[in-house]
Amino acid sequence: MKDLIATHEELPPRGYRMAGVYITLAMILALVTTIVWLAIPLFVLSFPVLAGTFFEWVYLKLGVYTLVLALISAIVLRRTFLMRRALNRREIFSLKELNSAFWGAFALVLANPITGFLMLLARDSISRISPPPLRAGSEGKILIVDHLTKLFPVRRTFAQSFRGEADTNVHAVDDVSFEVGKAQIYGLAGESGSGKTTVLRTVLRLTPPTSGSIYFEGKEISTATRREMKKIRPRIQVVFQDPYESMNPRMTTYEIVSEGLSVNNLATSTKDSHEKVLKALRDVQLTPPEEYIDRYPHELSGGQRQRVAIARALVLEPDLILADEPVSMLDVSVRAEVISVLLSIREKRGIAVLMVTHDLALSKDVVDQLGIMYLGKIVEVGAAEKVVGNPFHPYTQALIAAVPVPDPTAPKIRVLARGEIPTNISPPSGCRFHPRCSFAKAICSEVEPPLAEVRPGRKVACHFWEEAENAFLKDVKSRGVMEPAN
Ligand code: SF4
Repeated sequence: MKDLIATHEELPPRGYRMAGVYITLAMILALVTTIVWLAIPLFVLSFPVLAGTFFEWVYLKLGVYTLVLALISAIVLRRTFLMRRALNRREIFSLKELNSAFWGAFALVLANPITGFLMLLARDSISRISPPPLRAGSEGKILIVDHLTKLFPVRRTFAQSFRGEADTNVHAVDDVSFEVGKAQIYGLAGESGSGKTTVLRTVLRLTPPTSGSIYFEGKEISTATRREMKKIRPRIQVVFQDPYESMNPRMTTYEIVSEGLSVNNLATSTKDSHEKVLKALRDVQLTPPEEYIDRYPHELSGGQRQRVAIARALVLEPDLILADEPVSMLDVSVRAEVISVLLSIREKRGIAVLMVTHDLALSKDVVDQLGIMYLGKIVEVGAAEKVVGNPFHPYTQALIAAVPVPDPTAPKIRVLARGEIPTNISPPSGCRFHPRCSFAKAICSEVEPPLAEVRPGRKVACHFWEEAENAFLKDVKSRGVMEPAN
Protein backbone atom coordinates (compact mmCIF):
# COMPACT_ATOMS: atom_id res chain seq x y z
CA MET A 1 0.00 0.00 0.00
CA LYS A 2 2.79 2.35 0.91
CA ASP A 3 4.13 2.35 -2.63
CA LEU A 4 0.73 3.31 -4.04
CA ILE A 5 0.64 6.52 -2.05
CA ALA A 6 3.06 9.30 -2.75
CA THR A 7 3.50 10.96 0.61
CA HIS A 8 5.02 14.38 0.97
CA GLU A 9 8.20 12.77 2.23
CA GLU A 10 8.55 11.03 -1.13
CA LEU A 11 8.40 14.30 -3.06
CA PRO A 12 11.71 15.81 -4.21
CA PRO A 13 12.94 17.29 -0.91
CA ARG A 14 15.14 19.95 -2.54
CA GLY A 15 12.31 22.47 -2.86
CA TYR A 16 11.47 22.14 0.83
CA ARG A 17 15.10 22.28 1.88
CA MET A 18 15.84 25.44 -0.07
CA ALA A 19 12.57 27.09 1.01
CA GLY A 20 13.41 26.20 4.61
CA VAL A 21 16.82 27.89 4.35
CA TYR A 22 15.38 31.04 2.72
CA ILE A 23 12.53 31.36 5.19
CA THR A 24 14.76 30.79 8.21
CA LEU A 25 17.15 33.53 6.98
CA ALA A 26 14.20 35.80 6.24
CA MET A 27 12.85 35.18 9.74
CA ILE A 28 16.18 36.01 11.40
CA LEU A 29 16.57 39.17 9.29
CA ALA A 30 13.02 40.24 10.04
CA LEU A 31 13.68 39.79 13.76
CA VAL A 32 16.91 41.81 13.59
CA THR A 33 15.36 44.62 11.54
CA THR A 34 12.33 44.81 13.83
CA ILE A 35 14.67 45.32 16.78
CA VAL A 36 16.77 47.88 14.85
CA TRP A 37 13.77 49.90 13.63
CA LEU A 38 12.45 49.96 17.17
CA ALA A 39 15.79 50.93 18.68
CA ILE A 40 16.45 53.86 16.30
CA PRO A 41 13.56 56.12 17.43
CA LEU A 42 14.24 55.29 21.08
CA PHE A 43 17.89 56.22 20.61
CA VAL A 44 17.23 59.34 18.52
CA LEU A 45 14.42 60.67 20.66
CA SER A 46 16.53 60.29 23.76
CA PHE A 47 18.62 63.34 22.63
CA PRO A 48 17.38 66.68 24.00
CA VAL A 49 16.33 68.98 21.16
CA LEU A 50 15.04 72.52 21.41
CA ALA A 51 11.28 72.72 20.91
CA GLY A 52 10.15 74.43 17.71
CA THR A 53 13.46 74.04 15.91
CA PHE A 54 14.03 72.36 12.56
CA PHE A 55 15.84 69.48 14.33
CA GLU A 56 12.79 68.69 16.43
CA TRP A 57 10.71 68.38 13.26
CA VAL A 58 13.32 66.05 11.68
CA TYR A 59 13.60 63.98 14.85
CA LEU A 60 9.87 63.53 15.13
CA LYS A 61 9.51 62.55 11.46
CA LEU A 62 12.38 60.09 11.81
CA GLY A 63 10.86 58.60 14.93
CA VAL A 64 7.46 58.07 13.33
CA TYR A 65 8.97 56.70 10.11
CA THR A 66 11.16 54.17 11.89
CA LEU A 67 8.25 53.10 14.10
CA VAL A 68 6.19 52.39 10.97
CA LEU A 69 9.08 50.40 9.53
CA ALA A 70 9.35 48.46 12.80
CA LEU A 71 5.65 47.61 12.54
CA ILE A 72 6.05 46.39 8.96
CA SER A 73 9.07 44.33 9.97
CA ALA A 74 7.06 42.79 12.82
CA ILE A 75 4.30 41.82 10.37
CA VAL A 76 6.88 40.27 8.05
CA LEU A 77 8.40 38.46 11.03
CA ARG A 78 5.02 36.95 11.92
CA ARG A 79 4.49 35.95 8.28
CA THR A 80 7.86 34.22 8.06
CA PHE A 81 7.16 32.43 11.34
CA LEU A 82 3.82 31.11 9.98
CA MET A 83 5.52 30.02 6.79
CA ARG A 84 8.25 28.20 8.68
CA ARG A 85 5.66 26.40 10.78
CA ALA A 86 3.65 25.47 7.69
CA LEU A 87 6.79 24.22 6.03
CA ASN A 88 7.58 21.98 8.99
CA ARG A 89 4.13 20.46 8.64
CA ARG A 90 4.61 20.04 4.89
CA GLU A 91 1.51 22.12 4.16
CA ILE A 92 2.70 23.17 0.76
CA PHE A 93 -0.67 24.43 -0.38
CA SER A 94 -1.19 26.46 2.75
CA LEU A 95 2.19 28.03 2.06
CA LYS A 96 0.85 29.36 -1.21
CA GLU A 97 -2.17 30.69 0.63
CA LEU A 98 0.14 32.76 2.81
CA ASN A 99 0.76 34.81 -0.32
CA SER A 100 4.38 35.30 0.42
CA ALA A 101 4.95 37.13 -2.86
CA PHE A 102 2.76 40.00 -1.71
CA TRP A 103 4.41 40.29 1.65
CA GLY A 104 7.83 39.75 0.13
CA ALA A 105 7.33 42.54 -2.42
CA PHE A 106 5.85 44.80 0.24
CA ALA A 107 8.80 44.25 2.52
CA LEU A 108 11.18 44.55 -0.41
CA VAL A 109 10.12 48.12 -1.10
CA LEU A 110 9.65 49.45 2.39
CA ALA A 111 11.05 47.81 5.42
CA ASN A 112 13.53 45.17 4.66
CA PRO A 113 14.59 44.50 1.07
CA ILE A 114 16.68 41.42 1.86
CA THR A 115 13.90 39.71 3.80
CA GLY A 116 11.46 40.41 0.98
CA PHE A 117 13.90 39.02 -1.57
CA LEU A 118 14.46 35.85 0.51
CA MET A 119 10.72 35.30 0.76
CA LEU A 120 10.34 35.58 -2.99
CA LEU A 121 13.12 32.98 -3.40
CA ALA A 122 11.33 30.70 -0.89
CA ARG A 123 8.08 31.02 -2.78
CA ASP A 124 9.87 30.19 -6.00
CA SER A 125 11.32 27.00 -4.45
CA ILE A 126 7.94 25.95 -3.14
CA SER A 127 6.18 26.59 -6.43
CA ARG A 128 8.48 24.04 -8.09
CA ILE A 129 7.29 21.26 -5.75
CA SER A 130 4.62 19.23 -7.49
CA PRO A 131 1.54 18.36 -5.43
CA PRO A 132 1.20 14.77 -4.21
CA PRO A 133 -0.44 12.60 -6.87
CA LEU A 134 -3.92 11.18 -6.33
CA ARG A 135 -4.14 7.76 -4.79
CA ALA A 136 -3.79 5.06 -7.43
CA GLY A 137 -7.10 3.39 -8.30
CA SER A 138 -9.23 6.28 -7.04
CA GLU A 139 -10.84 6.98 -10.42
CA GLY A 140 -14.61 6.80 -10.15
CA LYS A 141 -14.41 6.65 -6.34
CA ILE A 142 -15.57 9.48 -4.13
CA LEU A 143 -14.41 7.94 -0.84
CA ILE A 144 -11.80 5.32 -0.03
CA VAL A 145 -11.38 4.13 3.53
CA ASP A 146 -8.15 2.19 3.81
CA HIS A 147 -7.29 0.05 6.84
CA LEU A 148 -9.00 2.48 9.18
CA THR A 149 -8.59 1.82 12.90
CA LYS A 150 -10.03 3.85 15.74
CA LEU A 151 -9.17 2.98 19.32
CA PHE A 152 -10.48 4.89 22.32
CA PRO A 153 -8.21 4.63 25.35
CA VAL A 154 -9.85 3.49 28.56
CA ARG A 155 -8.70 5.24 31.70
CA ARG A 156 -7.27 2.98 34.33
CA THR A 157 -8.50 3.39 37.87
CA PHE A 158 -6.00 4.18 40.58
CA ALA A 159 -6.22 0.59 41.83
CA GLN A 160 -5.54 -0.76 38.31
CA SER A 161 -2.52 1.53 37.91
CA PHE A 162 -1.31 0.45 41.34
CA ARG A 163 -1.59 -3.20 40.33
CA GLY A 164 0.43 -2.38 37.20
CA GLU A 165 -2.36 -3.34 34.80
CA ALA A 166 -1.70 -2.37 31.18
CA ASP A 167 -3.59 0.38 29.35
CA THR A 168 -6.66 -0.82 27.50
CA ASN A 169 -8.51 0.48 24.47
CA VAL A 170 -12.00 0.23 23.07
CA HIS A 171 -11.55 -1.24 19.59
CA ALA A 172 -14.34 0.77 18.00
CA VAL A 173 -13.14 0.31 14.42
CA ASP A 174 -10.47 -2.21 13.55
CA ASP A 175 -8.78 -2.35 10.14
CA VAL A 176 -11.81 -1.39 8.08
CA SER A 177 -11.49 -0.83 4.31
CA PHE A 178 -14.17 0.01 1.76
CA GLU A 179 -14.78 2.23 -1.26
CA VAL A 180 -17.75 4.38 -2.19
CA GLY A 181 -18.20 5.04 -5.91
CA LYS A 182 -19.50 8.30 -7.35
CA ALA A 183 -23.31 8.49 -7.13
CA GLN A 184 -23.32 5.21 -5.19
CA ILE A 185 -25.24 4.46 -2.00
CA TYR A 186 -23.03 2.44 0.30
CA GLY A 187 -24.58 0.96 3.41
CA LEU A 188 -22.94 -0.07 6.67
CA ALA A 189 -25.13 -2.34 8.77
CA GLY A 190 -24.72 -4.14 12.07
CA GLU A 191 -25.83 -4.18 15.69
CA SER A 192 -25.33 -1.23 18.00
CA GLY A 193 -21.69 -1.09 19.07
CA SER A 194 -20.36 -2.56 15.84
CA GLY A 195 -18.53 0.69 14.95
CA LYS A 196 -20.67 2.01 12.08
CA THR A 197 -21.19 5.49 13.49
CA THR A 198 -17.52 5.74 14.53
CA VAL A 199 -16.56 5.12 10.88
CA LEU A 200 -18.83 8.02 9.90
CA ARG A 201 -17.45 10.31 12.58
CA THR A 202 -13.89 9.47 11.56
CA VAL A 203 -14.60 10.15 7.87
CA LEU A 204 -16.00 13.53 8.94
CA ARG A 205 -12.86 14.07 11.05
CA LEU A 206 -14.99 14.70 14.12
CA THR A 207 -12.63 12.23 15.71
CA PRO A 208 -9.10 11.55 14.36
CA PRO A 209 -8.27 8.02 13.18
CA THR A 210 -5.77 6.00 15.20
CA SER A 211 -4.31 4.60 11.99
CA GLY A 212 -5.23 4.06 8.37
CA SER A 213 -6.17 6.52 5.66
CA ILE A 214 -9.26 8.20 4.27
CA TYR A 215 -9.23 9.52 0.71
CA PHE A 216 -11.82 11.92 -0.66
CA GLU A 217 -11.65 12.12 -4.45
CA GLY A 218 -8.21 10.51 -4.29
CA LYS A 219 -6.75 13.04 -1.83
CA GLU A 220 -5.91 11.96 1.68
CA ILE A 221 -8.01 13.79 4.24
CA SER A 222 -7.09 11.80 7.35
CA THR A 223 -4.01 13.99 7.76
CA ALA A 224 -5.51 17.22 6.40
CA THR A 225 -5.07 20.37 8.46
CA ARG A 226 -8.02 22.35 9.84
CA ARG A 227 -7.65 24.87 7.03
CA GLU A 228 -7.74 22.12 4.40
CA MET A 229 -10.70 20.42 6.09
CA LYS A 230 -12.58 23.70 6.09
CA LYS A 231 -12.43 23.69 2.30
CA ILE A 232 -13.45 20.02 2.03
CA ARG A 233 -16.28 20.08 4.59
CA PRO A 234 -18.96 21.71 2.38
CA ARG A 235 -18.43 18.83 -0.05
CA ILE A 236 -19.04 16.19 2.63
CA GLN A 237 -22.31 16.76 4.42
CA VAL A 238 -24.03 14.83 7.14
CA VAL A 239 -27.62 13.95 7.98
CA PHE A 240 -28.00 12.92 11.61
CA GLN A 241 -30.25 10.26 13.01
CA ASP A 242 -32.39 12.47 15.18
CA PRO A 243 -34.13 15.34 13.36
CA TYR A 244 -35.42 16.58 16.73
CA GLU A 245 -31.97 17.05 18.24
CA SER A 246 -30.02 18.15 15.17
CA MET A 247 -31.82 21.48 14.72
CA ASN A 248 -31.84 24.64 16.75
CA PRO A 249 -35.49 25.07 17.88
CA ARG A 250 -35.07 28.86 17.79
CA MET A 251 -34.15 29.01 14.12
CA THR A 252 -36.58 29.01 11.21
CA THR A 253 -36.29 26.58 8.33
CA TYR A 254 -34.72 29.33 6.22
CA GLU A 255 -32.10 30.08 8.89
CA ILE A 256 -31.34 26.39 9.38
CA VAL A 257 -30.87 25.68 5.68
CA SER A 258 -29.00 28.90 4.84
CA GLU A 259 -26.61 28.76 7.81
CA GLY A 260 -24.05 26.63 5.92
CA LEU A 261 -24.09 29.07 3.01
CA SER A 262 -23.17 32.01 5.19
CA VAL A 263 -20.60 30.07 7.26
CA ASN A 264 -18.82 28.92 4.09
CA ASN A 265 -19.36 32.15 2.12
CA LEU A 266 -21.12 30.23 -0.63
CA ALA A 267 -23.84 32.77 -1.40
CA THR A 268 -23.03 35.86 -3.42
CA SER A 269 -25.99 37.85 -2.07
CA THR A 270 -29.10 37.53 0.08
CA LYS A 271 -31.10 36.89 -3.09
CA ASP A 272 -28.72 34.12 -4.14
CA SER A 273 -28.97 32.55 -0.67
CA HIS A 274 -32.77 32.74 -0.82
CA GLU A 275 -32.88 31.06 -4.23
CA LYS A 276 -30.51 28.30 -3.14
CA VAL A 277 -32.58 27.58 -0.03
CA LEU A 278 -35.81 27.42 -2.06
CA LYS A 279 -34.19 25.07 -4.58
CA ALA A 280 -32.91 22.75 -1.83
CA LEU A 281 -36.37 22.65 -0.21
CA ARG A 282 -37.94 21.86 -3.58
CA ASP A 283 -35.42 19.04 -4.11
CA VAL A 284 -36.48 17.42 -0.84
CA GLN A 285 -40.11 17.71 -1.89
CA LEU A 286 -41.12 20.40 0.60
CA THR A 287 -43.33 22.25 -1.85
CA PRO A 288 -44.21 25.03 -2.15
CA PRO A 289 -41.00 25.99 -0.27
CA GLU A 290 -42.34 29.46 0.60
CA GLU A 291 -44.78 27.74 2.93
CA TYR A 292 -42.00 26.19 5.00
CA ILE A 293 -39.22 28.78 5.18
CA ASP A 294 -40.69 30.68 8.13
CA ARG A 295 -41.65 27.62 10.16
CA TYR A 296 -39.79 26.59 13.29
CA PRO A 297 -38.81 22.93 13.83
CA HIS A 298 -41.72 22.34 16.25
CA GLU A 299 -44.11 23.34 13.45
CA LEU A 300 -42.84 20.51 11.23
CA SER A 301 -43.60 16.78 11.33
CA GLY A 302 -40.76 14.26 11.86
CA GLY A 303 -40.54 13.49 8.14
CA GLN A 304 -40.54 17.19 7.23
CA ARG A 305 -37.78 17.88 9.76
CA GLN A 306 -35.61 15.15 8.34
CA ARG A 307 -36.20 16.56 4.85
CA VAL A 308 -35.12 19.98 6.14
CA ALA A 309 -31.98 18.27 7.50
CA ILE A 310 -31.35 16.80 4.04
CA ALA A 311 -31.98 20.23 2.44
CA ARG A 312 -29.45 21.74 4.86
CA ALA A 313 -26.89 19.26 3.51
CA LEU A 314 -27.97 19.65 -0.13
CA VAL A 315 -27.80 23.44 -0.23
CA LEU A 316 -24.00 23.28 -0.13
CA GLU A 317 -24.01 21.07 -3.24
CA PRO A 318 -21.97 18.26 -1.68
CA ASP A 319 -20.48 15.27 -3.48
CA LEU A 320 -20.97 12.93 -0.54
CA ILE A 321 -23.65 12.75 2.14
CA LEU A 322 -23.05 10.76 5.31
CA ALA A 323 -26.40 9.59 6.60
CA ASP A 324 -26.45 8.20 10.12
CA GLU A 325 -29.58 6.04 10.33
CA PRO A 326 -31.58 8.76 8.57
CA VAL A 327 -34.98 7.13 9.01
CA SER A 328 -34.70 5.11 12.21
CA MET A 329 -36.35 7.84 14.33
CA LEU A 330 -39.25 8.28 11.93
CA ASP A 331 -42.64 6.63 11.74
CA VAL A 332 -42.80 3.78 9.28
CA SER A 333 -45.34 5.79 7.27
CA VAL A 334 -42.87 8.61 6.53
CA ARG A 335 -39.73 6.50 6.09
CA ALA A 336 -40.56 5.81 2.46
CA GLU A 337 -40.85 9.55 1.74
CA VAL A 338 -37.40 10.31 3.17
CA ILE A 339 -35.85 7.34 1.38
CA SER A 340 -37.40 8.42 -1.92
CA VAL A 341 -35.87 11.89 -1.35
CA LEU A 342 -32.42 10.33 -0.88
CA LEU A 343 -32.83 8.22 -4.00
CA SER A 344 -34.04 11.16 -6.08
CA ILE A 345 -31.13 13.43 -5.08
CA ARG A 346 -28.71 10.67 -5.98
CA GLU A 347 -30.51 10.38 -9.32
CA LYS A 348 -30.72 14.13 -10.03
CA ARG A 349 -27.47 15.41 -8.58
CA GLY A 350 -25.25 12.31 -8.66
CA ILE A 351 -24.44 12.61 -4.96
CA ALA A 352 -22.94 9.56 -3.26
CA VAL A 353 -24.34 8.50 0.12
CA LEU A 354 -22.62 6.56 2.89
CA MET A 355 -25.51 5.33 4.99
CA VAL A 356 -25.39 3.70 8.38
CA THR A 357 -28.40 1.56 9.08
CA HIS A 358 -29.82 -1.15 11.28
CA ASP A 359 -32.50 -1.95 8.79
CA LEU A 360 -31.48 -4.73 6.41
CA ALA A 361 -34.90 -4.85 4.75
CA LEU A 362 -34.49 -1.19 3.86
CA SER A 363 -30.88 -1.70 2.71
CA LYS A 364 -32.00 -4.25 0.16
CA ASP A 365 -34.11 -1.69 -1.70
CA VAL A 366 -32.02 1.45 -1.19
CA VAL A 367 -28.37 0.56 -0.94
CA ASP A 368 -26.11 -0.46 -3.86
CA GLN A 369 -23.25 -1.97 -1.90
CA LEU A 370 -23.63 -3.27 1.64
CA GLY A 371 -20.96 -3.87 4.28
CA ILE A 372 -21.88 -5.80 7.42
CA MET A 373 -19.95 -4.76 10.54
CA TYR A 374 -19.45 -6.79 13.67
CA LEU A 375 -17.42 -5.61 16.65
CA GLY A 376 -15.44 -3.03 14.66
CA LYS A 377 -14.77 -5.19 11.61
CA ILE A 378 -16.41 -5.65 8.23
CA VAL A 379 -17.36 -9.32 7.97
CA GLU A 380 -19.25 -9.37 4.68
CA VAL A 381 -19.48 -7.09 1.62
CA GLY A 382 -21.39 -7.31 -1.62
CA ALA A 383 -24.29 -5.97 -3.64
CA ALA A 384 -27.04 -5.30 -1.09
CA GLU A 385 -29.58 -7.45 -2.89
CA LYS A 386 -27.24 -10.43 -2.88
CA VAL A 387 -26.01 -10.01 0.69
CA VAL A 388 -29.58 -9.81 2.01
CA GLY A 389 -30.96 -12.46 -0.37
CA ASN A 390 -28.19 -14.99 0.13
CA PRO A 391 -25.96 -14.17 3.10
CA PHE A 392 -22.71 -16.10 3.53
CA HIS A 393 -21.62 -15.01 7.00
CA PRO A 394 -23.43 -16.54 9.99
CA TYR A 395 -23.70 -13.08 11.56
CA THR A 396 -25.38 -11.63 8.45
CA GLN A 397 -27.73 -14.61 8.51
CA ALA A 398 -28.60 -13.91 12.13
CA LEU A 399 -29.33 -10.25 11.30
CA ILE A 400 -31.53 -11.21 8.37
CA ALA A 401 -33.35 -13.86 10.38
CA ALA A 402 -34.21 -11.15 12.92
CA VAL A 403 -35.98 -8.99 10.32
CA PRO A 404 -39.74 -9.29 10.92
CA VAL A 405 -41.71 -10.41 7.86
CA PRO A 406 -45.29 -9.14 7.66
CA ASP A 407 -46.48 -12.37 6.05
CA PRO A 408 -47.45 -15.31 8.26
CA THR A 409 -46.95 -17.74 5.36
CA ALA A 410 -43.42 -16.55 4.61
CA PRO A 411 -40.50 -18.86 5.45
CA LYS A 412 -39.59 -18.68 9.12
CA ILE A 413 -35.84 -18.70 9.36
CA ARG A 414 -34.48 -18.54 12.86
CA VAL A 415 -30.70 -18.41 12.86
CA LEU A 416 -29.87 -17.16 16.31
CA ALA A 417 -26.68 -15.56 17.46
CA ARG A 418 -26.06 -16.77 20.98
CA GLY A 419 -25.89 -14.26 23.78
CA GLU A 420 -24.96 -10.61 23.63
CA ILE A 421 -22.38 -8.76 21.56
CA PRO A 422 -19.10 -9.01 23.57
CA THR A 423 -17.25 -5.94 24.81
CA ASN A 424 -14.89 -4.42 22.29
CA ILE A 425 -12.39 -3.59 25.01
CA SER A 426 -11.11 -7.14 24.76
CA PRO A 427 -12.62 -8.64 21.60
CA PRO A 428 -12.61 -12.45 21.32
CA SER A 429 -9.55 -14.06 19.73
CA GLY A 430 -9.64 -15.44 16.20
CA CYS A 431 -13.02 -14.77 14.62
CA ARG A 432 -14.73 -12.21 16.83
CA PHE A 433 -18.10 -13.88 16.23
CA HIS A 434 -17.01 -17.32 17.44
CA PRO A 435 -18.58 -17.22 20.95
CA ARG A 436 -21.99 -16.61 19.32
CA CYS A 437 -21.65 -18.64 16.12
CA SER A 438 -23.58 -21.82 15.33
CA PHE A 439 -20.88 -23.02 12.93
CA ALA A 440 -17.82 -22.32 15.09
CA LYS A 441 -15.06 -24.94 15.22
CA ALA A 442 -11.72 -25.02 17.03
CA ILE A 443 -9.90 -23.02 14.34
CA CYS A 444 -12.38 -20.14 14.67
CA SER A 445 -11.11 -19.15 18.11
CA GLU A 446 -7.49 -19.32 16.99
CA VAL A 447 -7.23 -17.95 13.46
CA GLU A 448 -8.91 -14.75 12.37
CA PRO A 449 -10.51 -15.28 8.94
CA PRO A 450 -9.51 -12.64 6.37
CA LEU A 451 -12.13 -10.70 4.42
CA ALA A 452 -11.65 -12.53 1.11
CA GLU A 453 -13.46 -12.46 -2.23
CA VAL A 454 -15.18 -15.82 -2.42
CA ARG A 455 -17.39 -15.11 -5.42
CA PRO A 456 -17.31 -12.24 -7.93
CA GLY A 457 -18.28 -9.10 -6.03
CA ARG A 458 -18.78 -10.97 -2.74
CA LYS A 459 -16.36 -10.84 0.18
CA VAL A 460 -16.74 -12.66 3.46
CA ALA A 461 -14.61 -13.20 6.57
CA CYS A 462 -15.52 -16.74 7.62
CA HIS A 463 -13.69 -20.09 7.55
CA PHE A 464 -16.90 -22.01 6.94
CA TRP A 465 -18.99 -19.68 4.82
CA GLU A 466 -19.97 -22.44 2.35
CA GLU A 467 -21.35 -24.56 5.16
CA ALA A 468 -23.24 -21.54 6.51
CA GLU A 469 -24.61 -20.70 3.07
CA ASN A 470 -25.81 -24.26 2.44
CA ALA A 471 -27.48 -24.40 5.85
CA PHE A 472 -29.21 -21.08 5.25
CA LEU A 473 -30.47 -22.09 1.80
CA LYS A 474 -31.66 -25.45 3.12
CA ASP A 475 -33.42 -23.71 5.93
CA VAL A 476 -35.14 -21.29 3.56
CA LYS A 477 -36.23 -24.16 1.35
CA SER A 478 -37.62 -26.31 4.11
CA ARG A 479 -39.16 -23.33 5.96
CA GLY A 480 -37.86 -25.02 9.09
CA VAL A 481 -36.29 -23.71 12.24
CA MET A 482 -32.56 -23.73 12.75
CA GLU A 483 -31.24 -23.43 16.27
CA PRO A 484 -27.64 -22.70 17.03
CA ALA A 485 -25.43 -25.59 18.01
CA ASN A 486 -24.41 -25.46 21.64
FE1 SF4 B 1 -18.51 -18.69 12.70
FE2 SF4 B 1 -16.05 -19.63 12.45
FE3 SF4 B 1 -17.20 -18.35 10.45
FE4 SF4 B 1 -16.45 -17.04 12.58
S1 SF4 B 1 -15.12 -18.10 11.17
S2 SF4 B 1 -18.34 -16.82 11.54
S3 SF4 B 1 -16.89 -18.51 14.18
S4 SF4 B 1 -17.83 -20.28 11.32
